[in-house]
This record gives sequence, C-alpha cells and structure tokens, in this order.
Amino acid sequence: MSTEHAGQSVTRGQAVAVPVTACRSCGGPSPRPFLTLGCTPIANRLLRPDDLAGHEPVFPLEIGFCESCALVQLTHALPAEEIFDADYPYYSSFSDMLCRHAEKHVIDLIASHNLGPDSLVVEIASNDGYLLRAFVERGIPVLGIEPSPGPAAAARKIGVPTRAEFFGADLARALVADGLRADVIIANNVLAHVPDLNSFVAGMSILLADDGIITVENPGVGALLANTEFDTVYHEHFCYFSTIAVDALMRRHGLSIVEVAEFPELHGGTLRWRLRRAAADRESPQVRERLERERAAGLDTFERYAGFGADVRELQAELLALLRELAGQGRTVAGYGAAAKGATLLNSSGITTDLVQYVVDRNVHKQGKYIPGARTPILAPAVLAERRPDYLLLLAWNVRDEIMEQQAAFARRGGKFIVPVPRPVVC
Ligand code: ZN
Repeated sequence: MSTEHAGQSVTRGQAVAVPVTACRSCGGPSPRPFLTLGCTPIANRLLRPDDLAGHEPVFPLEIGFCESCALVQLTHALPAEEIFDADYPYYSSFSDMLCRHAEKHVIDLIASHNLGPDSLVVEIASNDGYLLRAFVERGIPVLGIEPSPGPAAAARKIGVPTRAEFFGADLARALVADGLRADVIIANNVLAHVPDLNSFVAGMSILLADDGIITVENPGVGALLANTEFDTVYHEHFCYFSTIAVDALMRRHGLSIVEVAEFPELHGGTLRWRLRRAAADRESPQVRERLERERAAGLDTFERYAGFGADVRELQAELLALLRELAGQGRTVAGYGAAAKGATLLNSSGITTDLVQYVVDRNVHKQGKYIPGARTPILAPAVLAERRPDYLLLLAWNVRDEIMEQQAAFARRGGKFIVPVPRPVVC
C-alpha cells in the first residue's frame, strides 16, 4: 500500500479520491497534513463471501489542519454516494450505552423546552429512529431525516416518520415551504459525515424556529489527540471538531453556542454543543471558558497536531509486537466489534488474519461478512464459547465496559482482553 499520494487524484476502480483544495468550513487554503494512515478501503463497506475473489478499491487516508479556522479534516475526499450506499451496516439500537444516553437526552430536552403535542423535533441522520421513538412514545411530533434507505425503512416500521434524503439548505427550504419549523433540531454523530458543512448548517438555521434550539453531538478532536484514537479516522469522517472550529462554522450562519457538555465515555470523548440564533445577550461564560481551555491546550495551532503522527506510529508498533509475540507463543486472538474503526486499526497497522483470526459482533447485519482490507471474518459472539480464543482484541474499545460485562464467562475461563488505545494493554 502506497502512502505517496499528496496532491494527486487517486483512482481505484470506479471511484476517485479528490485532494481537498479548500477548507470544508472556511474555504481557506488546503488543510496541512499531520497524520497519514496509508491507502485503505472504505471502512464500513463490509465484504460478502462473493466479494473476496474481487479487487478491492483503496483510497488515501490522511488528515490535516486548517490554519485559518482550526478545523481538522481529511486531505482527500470521496463522493458521499460512495460511502453511504444501501449496504451501510450501522444500526444504532445495537448499542445499549447509546440507547441509555439518547433516552436521558430526550427526557432532558422535553423538560427544559416544555415540548408537547404542538412541538416539532427534527433529527438529522436519525438512523433507525432509536432516539426519535422516545419522543413519539411521549406524544411529541417528530421528523427523521436519514439518507440510508435501510435504517430509514426500519425507523418508519417503528412509527418514526422519516425522509430518506441528505440534509442541506435545499431540503430545509422545502420543509419550511411545507409549513414546518423545528423547535428542536438534533444532529448526533453526523457533522463529521457531512461533505458540505456550510449547506448543512445553513439548513439547520433555516429550519429552526426563532426560539428553537439545536443540539449537535460529535466526538471531540481534543480527546482524539489525548487518547491516540487514530482509528476513529476513516473516509466516512470528513472532519474532526474542536469547539473552536464549531464556533467559527456556526457563527457564519447566525448561530451561537450557548452550552458545551462533555461525555468522556461516549465514542471516546463526545462533545454536545447547544446552539441558538445568535444574539448579543446570549454570550455564555461557560462557552467562553471552554474556548479558552481549548486554546490553552493548543487545539488552534498546527504544533499541537504535528506530534500526533509519531504517537500513532508508536502505538501501532507496540500493538503489532504484542500480537506477533502472542502468535509466536501459539496463542489465538479474536477481535470484538466490527465497527469502522476496527477496519482502520487493522488495515493501517498491518494486522492480518494470522494475528487476529476473526472478529465477533452482535450486529446480525454484519455477521457472515468480512472486514474490508484485512478480510477478517465477522462471526456471532456465540462462537467464542466454542473456539475459546486466548485473547480478545477490543476493536470497539469505546464500549469496553459493556463488552467486558457481556464476556464475563470468557474472562472466567482465563481469557484476556487487549485494549488498543490510548496505549495497548492486556487486562
Ligand atoms: Zn478552515
């Protein structure tokens, strides 16, 4: 796999990876690269048995920093339709932790904004309706917007009205023309996936009722750096956000951050920004303090990012050495969690099936398929009882506690867990 791709278009099969020549937020000069993870396949495009004979397209995976607005972003991009196709395998309700977090958010929003039968809650990237369903159950009208047809159909089936479209300024204008205005707009774990950030945020601003509130959640780039979460970098994630970068993006569209909350346990460190229409009297001391803290941590300077590549290479070398040592001792290692970040971790570290023989995942949509690139088979967790691997590499380290709890029997019979980040440890 080549890493020599700076500044060139790279073609593999039908699709073309195009170098990003302007910042996706401010339009400033090309992002300055600081982490290169080689050329890898699209992380969520799991392979079927039939695909194994075929040629697999790979694309440069590298991130850079915008020196104008501090936004971290991929330096090469694929067209969105390459990434979010009908096979998009992620169905949210498979994570218990995510469901609990969502439920708490709903209860909190209903109470703090007096939501009722005359309100409208719009969720962008509403997936299988796991969050909106909690509003529906409480008699509050909702609209889900979800471009992936599989999850959108699943949402409708459980009574969550859903439009299977990409969100942007055009769709927002069409909804407003239909007489809709949102009292609450929720955009969880979607901002990173948006190719046209300005159209997306303009759309939220257009659709929002004058006294409405927007809540946006995304893993924070500060936690990514601090915990060496390099495996959360993949082609589906165009951008990686600090509050500094979000603030600049939102201000451009007449929105201002009124509150920042942090959830260190969620997706490796999630931030939730609450936004309202910008008004001079809404400048929040809490937000100001957060911005100052991020600046003090260097999140607005290239220097903070520059050392990250070396941290990642060190982690990868340690992990590879550990896995080779275990293989040399005749130990067997399985992976847990066929999430996209597992594909980045395996492929960018060169971990093949001689080191990690198979991966288990509770998601039945993924079982029987293969991780792209590494071609690691994905099996049901039940096989762990039969095959009795010596070690479980936690590819889904973000739900580490949940997995360890479910796999108590594995640990009781002497099985050990390998947690790869922030540094590989056996426990
Ligand atoms: Zn920028």
